[in-house]
Amino acid sequence: MRSRVVLIGATGSIGRQALDVIARFPEEFELVGAVVGHRAEVLVEALAPYPSAQAVVVAPEGPVPSGMAVGVGAACELASMPGADVIVVGGGGASALLPTLAACEAGHLVAVATKEVLVMAGELVTRTAHDHGARIIPVDSEHSAIWQCLRGEDPQSVARLILTASGGPFRTTPLEQMARATPAQALAHPNWRMGPKVTIDSATMMNKGLEVIEAHFLFEVPYSQIEVVIHPQSAIHSAVEFWDGTIIAQLGVPDMRGPIALAMADGRRLRGVLPPLSLAQVGRLDFERADLTRFPALRVAREAGMRGGALPAAMNAANEVSVAAFLDGSIQFGDIPSLVESVVRAFVPPAELDLRAVLNADRWAREAALAAVTELAPNRLVSPPAVAR
Ligand code: MG
Repeated sequence: MRSRVVLIGATGSIGRQALDVIARFPEEFELVGAVVGHRAEVLVEALAPYPSAQAVVVAPEGPVPSGMAVGVGAACELASMPGADVIVVGGGGASALLPTLAACEAGHLVAVATKEVLVMAGELVTRTAHDHGARIIPVDSEHSAIWQCLRGEDPQSVARLILTASGGPFRTTPLEQMARATPAQALAHPNWRMGPKVTIDSATMMNKGLEVIEAHFLFEVPYSQIEVVIHPQSAIHSAVEFWDGTIIAQLGVPDMRGPIALAMADGRRLRGVLPPLSLAQVGRLDFERADLTRFPALRVAREAGMRGGALPAAMNAANEVSVAAFLDGSIQFGDIPSLVESVVRAFVPPAELDLRAVLNADRWAREAALAAVTELAPNRLVSPPAVAR
């Protein structure tokens, strides 16, 4: 029986790579539904080989083709459709939260690539999955690696999760130069091919901060036992240290189709998904501590995670706004972490943590971050040109 797949965020980087895996393994997968944020016409093109797949556009920018449903409610319906086996959540940032919750409520296998949903509502998502018998398999390469390292192991015996980070394009750039980096420079990731949001997050290392929070919720490991280490070759995708002193790591070529295929196949390894990694060609594996002066976002994210509650949701929203403002030239690269931190500092956490509190925190932080951007922007009239997203 082929596994019936619904893609949330079908035309983003993860979505396109998932479509590639589906096309390459037609005996394994069948696309039954796809959701995009805005671009209905791109979805029509992507779905051409799958005429029976259902299509949803959440907030269309132009006319909607006939047969395509509209709105977040329709996206949630697709994410919870009874005829689906696996829901792939990729792209969309915070807007992927409601479809993710719907997929969990339906008890589906949920392959989560959009770390923002776990950062903003990790407790809610994992609890909903648990209550409805849904299983979450991570697609984020680090978490897929950790998930693989943990297979067959006693969770009690885990001493530390070790998240590797490439260090991005500015690992060795002089700090003043880094603060004034252009979007084009920040988008030039040395190892991974990803969408613009996560690529900018990699350059600030906010991405790794979000991944620390994601790991905390996925694997139920305290923050004190989650370590980040810079590993410029990106050959080791992450590792787990156990209480006997053993470290198990997962290696492979840096290509998201690996973790996507593994999650969509419910942990089964499909033959020939990726070419094997040549260890001789990699040559050497380097590691260094993450420098929190260079990458303050890592500290901001860890602190927000440890304070918990709705704070990570507020931080995530402030970061999404800051990254968009940097990409359209409104703020400088060096403004991103300080802007996020100022929003987090001003946030007053709610007493209770439910979906409404998470959405309120998200909304409040977006407005606060936009106000901060507007304050910074007038001084930045000589801004770099906008980058297509
Ligand atoms: Mg990652």
